[in-house]
Amino acid sequence: MDEGTTWYEVIKHKKYLYVIRERLDNLEPRFYTKIINLYLLVGKERALLIDTGSGLFPLRPLVDSLIGEKKLIVVNTHTHFDHRGADEEFNEISVHSLEAKELTKPFDVSFLRDSPQEIVKYYAKKNFILKPATSIKSIEEGYEFNLGDISLKVIHTPGHSSGSISLLSNKNELFTGDTAHYGTIYLPKRKKFPMILSSLHKMLEICVKCGVSELYPSHEIFPVGTELLESLMSGISNIETIWNSKIKDKFLDAWILDDGKFKYVIE
Ligand SMILES: [Zn+2]
Repeated sequence: MDEGTTWYEVIKHKKYLYVIRERLDNLEPRFYTKIINLYLLVGKERALLIDTGSGLFPLRPLVDSLIGEKKLIVVNTHTHFDHRGADEEFNEISVHSLEAKELTKPFDVSFLRDSPQEIVKYYAKKNFILKPATSIKSIEEGYEFNLGDISLKVIHTPGHSSGSISLLSNKNELFTGDTAHYGTIYLPKRKKFPMILSSLHKMLEICVKCGVSELYPSHEIFPVGTELLESLMSGISNIETIWNSKIKDKFLDAWILDDGKFKYVIE
């Protein structure tokens, strides 16, 4: 299991903020996504882990080594496998109420059986099942995580999934989950585009109102500026005009489009 100790890359980005990164492209290049970012905020009284990643390798020992004796709160930005993989290692997971039921169920990752074998053998040991945490806490828009000196407020930003959330810190940061990141963006069906566009608009408004200049996405590069939100809004609004260039992706069972700035995967 030595691979486990080198699988996670840990970056101490700020005094209180660690970024724990996984190479999703090593797990499955057919997702197009390269990196998963987990964020660990260590406050004076408590610590908060945002997402638990792919679940390929034990995560808890690493997190414990970074937070010492502090109490840990764990939240999932949504319930896709690359954000909830290691949930079973933690006692309680907070998630938006719209995905709380989903998070009580095991997640079957057998669609990854053909992924690179040197990695997937670790899922095989779990029979391709990612177990849930013992306890799921349902949260809503406006809920606040209090870490002592740091607080984070839940913003419901549906679109990528129904219960996707972003987290607004009192330190001018917005953790955006999968709602906004560079690279390949996973979108719902076209009829739900208004939902994701309104989430992006809501995020931009909050950034302006609260003076947020740093976005911390759950994939690819971090931190990024608020111009990401504007680029995504115009990109998604423009998809209709490039719709004829779509190609079918069999593995993802989705349409792929590329406008030169983003790649889009559309259900
Ligand atoms: Zn993701």
